[in-house]
Amino acid sequence: MKQFSFSNLSRRDFLQASSLAMAGSLLGGRANAWGERVPDHVDHVPLALPALPYDYTALEPYIDARTMKIHHGRHHAAYTNNVVEALRRYPAYAAQPLENVLADIPSLPADIQTAVRNNGGGHWNHELFWEIMSPDGGGEPSGAVRDAIDNVWGDFATMQSEFNRAGATQFGSGWAWLLVNEQGNLQISSTPNQDNPLMHGLVEVTGQPILGLDVWEHAYYLHYQNRRGDYMDAWWNVVNWPRVEALYHAALGRRV
Ligand code: MN
Repeated sequence: MKQFSFSNLSRRDFLQASSLAMAGSLLGGRANAWGERVPDHVDHVPLALPALPYDYTALEPYIDARTMKIHHGRHHAAYTNNVVEALRRYPAYAAQPLENVLADIPSLPADIQTAVRNNGGGHWNHELFWEIMSPDGGGEPSGAVRDAIDNVWGDFATMQSEFNRAGATQFGSGWAWLLVNEQGNLQISSTPNQDNPLMHGLVEVTGQPILGLDVWEHAYYLHYQNRRGDYMDAWWNVVNWPRVEALYHAALGRRV
């Protein structure tokens, strides 16, 4: 039987997490996804369905309100509920940022690896997806991320077409990504299902995603039917480049 190990989780962390939950229950605070109380000064309440930062109608005409409502309220909510359910028997992970858990799935208890991969991946991917869209989005990026794009691809349009190709050629369900790779350079990749570049040992290209496009049919079928290319073309009109710029800086900072 495989020895349980988790590189990001020490016994000390576990004890801290346990006492944190206990202190929270004494002090009031908020409930995390496990129903435990966490003190108000802890701003990381893991694995709850985030509210959208805009209305369901906000991204029209590019993404229709009905798709947004079902995508967020049913699909994303199901991923969140399922990963919470999977981790329920291993409450120490409640205190871990989901990114850390996803980065080391092969070291998780065997009985939850698939559920965390699919549903933890689904939760994390959709959190990013809502965040990098905006009704005020579109246009072209500026700042450091633009410089990095120009440096790798020569110009913005070339990066866009390579990203679109990654999304178009992802067979079946999956995602296209713009990420900061292990060398600190921008790279484009695609992954099947709810995999993402955080998942060391499971995906080919690893790094920190700063832009992700959901190419599951549930993301576009109601409005675009089988026209994935039209959906991808429209989606660039809602990309929140200032947010991508911030994620780029955060990704570079994380490497230091
Ligand atoms: Mn989706």
